[in-house]
Formats: sequence, C-alpha cells, structure tokens
Amino acid sequence: MAAQWTKLTFKLNTGREIPAVGLGTWQSKPNEVRKAVKAALLAGYKHIDTAQAYGNEAEVGDGIQDAGVPRESFFLTTKIDNMNHKHVAQTMDESLKKLKTDYVDLILMHWPVSIDPVDSEKQSITYKDWKFTDTWKEMEKLVETGKARAIGVSNFGIRNLETLLASAKVVPAVNQIELHPCCPSNKLVDFCKSKGIHVTAYSCLGSTDSPLANNQTLQSIADAHGKTPQQVLLVWGLKRGTSVIPKSVTESRIKGNFDLDGLDLTEEEMEKINNMPERFKVCNEWLPEKVFSSEKEGRDFYDGDKLFEKK
Ligand code: NDP
Repeated sequence: MAAQWTKLTFKLNTGREIPAVGLGTWQSKPNEVRKAVKAALLAGYKHIDTAQAYGNEAEVGDGIQDAGVPRESFFLTTKIDNMNHKHVAQTMDESLKKLKTDYVDLILMHWPVSIDPVDSEKQSITYKDWKFTDTWKEMEKLVETGKARAIGVSNFGIRNLETLLASAKVVPAVNQIELHPCCPSNKLVDFCKSKGIHVTAYSCLGSTDSPLANNQTLQSIADAHGKTPQQVLLVWGLKRGTSVIPKSVTESRIKGNFDLDGLDLTEEEMEKINNMPERFKVCNEWLPEKVFSSEKEGRDFYDGDKLFEKK
C-alpha cells in the first residue's frame, strides 16, 4: 500500500498521538505566520509548532482562528523560553492567552538552560539557585491542570536526559532536536527511543538558506521520484520514526511539504542519504552552558568541531 504520511501519527508515552507532519514557525515574520498557519491547517496539517521565544504565539493563535478548524482536530506545541523557567505556571497561562486556547497538546522546555533575565539581551547568565530539573518539576504540575496534555523537552542531549530522568516523575513525551542528514544524531535518537521518548526533527530541511536544497544526492533521488529534495528529506525523517515540522511561510511550499503521500524511499536510497558525508548544525552552542556532550553524543551529533558549524 502506498505510504500515507499525512495520516501517520506516532504514539506518545502518554497514550496520545502526535501527527507525523507539522508546520514549524521559527523566523516566520509578523503578518506571515498568521497566513501560514491558516494555509497549513486548511491544507490538512494537524500539527503546529511554535514557541514563546519566536514571539509569534498571538499570530499563530490568529491563524488558527482564521482557519476555523475545531481545536480538537489538530495538535499544538509551544515551548517555555529559557528566561521563564522560574515562572512555568504563569508563562503557560500567558501562552494559552496568546494562542487563544484552553490547552496545548505539548509544551516543551526549549533548552536545558535556565537563564536569569537580568541580562536578557545576551542571555549569558544562568541562575545559581535553579536547575532545569526544578523547571521540570514545575512542568510536571502542568499535566495535572490539563493546560498541557503532554510535557517534553527540546535540545536535550543524552547527558542532560540522564540527569532529568534520574529525578523525573514524568518521562518526557518528546525530545525535539535538530535532525537532518547532515546532523543525524543516531545515538541520541536511539537513546530517546530506548526510554520511550518520541523524537521530533527540527530544521529538518536544513533551515534558512539550507545547503541541502542543492545537494546532488538528494536531487537525484528526488528526480527519480518526480519529487523535490525537501519532500525526500521529510520522508527520510518520517521513515526514521521521527515527526517532522518543516517551516514555510510560502503557500505553495506549505502545500508541497504536505504532499508526501505515496512517496517512499528504497533501502538503498535511505542508505545513500544516511551516508552523506557533510556535517553542519544550524542551532549551534550559543548558550552559557554546553548542552551537548561530544563523549555521549559522538561525532554524529556535535563535538564543537569546526566541521559541524554551518558553512
Ligand atoms: P526548516 O528546516 O523547516 O527550513 C525552513 C526554510 O526552508 C525556510 O527558509 C523556508 O522558506 C524554506 N523552505 C520550506 N519549504 C521549502 C520547500 N519546499 N522548498 C524550498 N525551500 C523551503 O527550518 P527551521 O529551522 O525553521 O525548522 C523547522 C521548525 O522547527 C521551526 O520553524 C521551529 O518550529 C522548529 N525549531 C525548533 C528549534 C528548537 O530549538 N526546538 C530550533 C529550530 C527550529 P520560506 O519560509 O520562505 O518558504
């Protein structure tokens, strides 16, 4: 049977399902994101991904209202900003107000770093009296309020996941991390799977000005199927068992990124993509703490090597 990617969901450890394909909204500018969210929901997307840090939750909420689809019919994710770790309950309420909804399906700790907003511009000072495990304890309470149907993390490497799991009552439902063929993070993905944590792939197209758009390996596979390199990248991610959240504010691309049904990649094609030698990472270390460990994650992921910086 032909692959039905747009109907696919992955089961979370909460028992609920996360739709496999969603719309990303990072860097979606004001006046763009509202239209993008509406276009995506009307095209059939069942998952919208936003974050407090993107500064666009209110417009995402407007786009949802414009689309006029029932709230229960789609999955909504937002993320707690690094500077809001001490105010989880309050910041949850603010997000819900902006999004114009009573609940989100998933709220993520955006980064495993609790930043003191005293230097909000540089985000260079971490709290001395607060750890991300404290933030997680506050997030665990959100599930009881019903305001978040699931809680999860983002940008957590193996080392930080182990720290979190050592004291967590609730195992994160999701770890949202950068994943594309030039940042495959195989060890981390396997680790998450072994703990029952679903993985969502961000920057799954390689992000803004992606070097993957002109990659010959991807182009030749795309040509063989009469598809685009972006569609190939998304199916590569889905076949690895990760959900994908491509961002676009261009209606034709929003539709194209959801036009995946029937596209399947052979084992040989998957292998070719898995063996692409180039490495880059879009969201490199920019925080005052190192969040990925070369020892645990290996060269697959990130080791501070220049090779891993986006060219
Ligand atoms: P993506 O990998 O989704 O790439 C987005 C870029 O690709 C945009 O420039 C977009 O342009 C372009 N594009 C989209 N579709 C196509 C297409 N079919 N053909 C050609 N170009 C295309 O990048 P992101 O880094 O935005 O990642 C996706 C989402 O993941 C984010 O939006 C966000 O929701 C999430 N994310 C989460 C992070 C985290 O820390 N948890 C960090 C980074 C991202 P245009 O919009 O102009 O069409």
